[in-house]
Amino acid sequence: MKNKIVLVGCGNVGMAYSYALLNQKTYVDKLVLIDLDKEYTEGQAMDLNHCLSYSPSKIEVISGHYSDCKDAKIVVLAAGANQALGETRMDLINKNSFIFKSIVDEVMKSGFDGIFLVATNPLDVMTYLTLKYSKLPPNRIIGSGTTLDTSRLRYMISTKVNVSPEDIDAFVIGEHGDSEFVPWSTVSIGLSKIHNFLSYEDQKKIEDDVKNSAYEIIKKKGATCYGIGMCLVKITNAILEDKKIILPVSSYDKKNDVCISTPAIVCSQGVKEKIFIPLTLDEEAKLTKSINTIKDAIKSLD
Ligand code: NAD
Repeated sequence: MKNKIVLVGCGNVGMAYSYALLNQKTYVDKLVLIDLDKEYTEGQAMDLNHCLSYSPSKIEVISGHYSDCKDAKIVVLAAGANQALGETRMDLINKNSFIFKSIVDEVMKSGFDGIFLVATNPLDVMTYLTLKYSKLPPNRIIGSGTTLDTSRLRYMISTKVNVSPEDIDAFVIGEHGDSEFVPWSTVSIGLSKIHNFLSYEDQKKIEDDVKNSAYEIIKKKGATCYGIGMCLVKITNAILEDKKIILPVSSYDKKNDVCISTPAIVCSQGVKEKIFIPLTLDEEAKLTKSINTIKDAIKSLD
């Protein structure tokens, strides 16, 4: 099997990812669904296979087992609790770290030797735990990180300045959570600095709206899923097609011993390298705060 993906956790996020995969041209040949309830994943596999007559890709979807991970290129982890109303991502740490130990152990027992792509929150902690539990090389452990927050940021700037999101060079970096931030000094549109387009007040409002998006969506519809589904497809395709594109994924930062999002090159090897970003002193302080937030959360697990 050339490009097999195994998805563990077929709830809102997992199924949004699966459906987004089927709606695009992708190199994925086979998608294996794993969840707690086998009958449920059988039903999901049937439903997804019934899209294939009209899908631009030919992906075989099956309900599977951990043994299917053996020859998988990517195992996507979207299992675990999601935020209830008023909960932060960090509030999920105890429940989801417990679940992840058994899942990653099962995946590794199969002989898996590919790339993990993590979506479960608290994202940076779960990415770090996947690295520690699996003992795979750090370049092969990728968290979706602030890819979703960055997509929200580019969309919101684009609607304000009326330029395509693709031409907005902007990233959210740091923790995928409350300490994330926008390094505005680095943001540009068509080589022109962002302050030529947006006032300080506009920037602040957009940054707050990005940070509060998940809380707002959860209040209105209970969970977020389509945005992250599309981000996971973007990362999957970057790996399978060896695209070498720059995405703010969560990856291992050896100096600080955390997984955190800064722009990095994503290719067939996983994360090739993190890009150096010239930050102002104020932005450096925000990044340090974000690193410490994740470190403290990991320490709290000991
Ligand atoms: P959900 O409750 O809809 O789905 C979770 C699924 O995990 C369920 O189907 C459940 O049965 C399954 N599961 C639980 N324990 C399992 C186990 N041991 N083995 C296999 N499957 C198991 O939740 P959701 O809305 O899909 O969210 C999933 C995770 O993704 C949450 O942690 C959520 O916070 C996170 N999330 C991340 C982002 C992001 O940007 N990274 C965005 C949205 C949601």
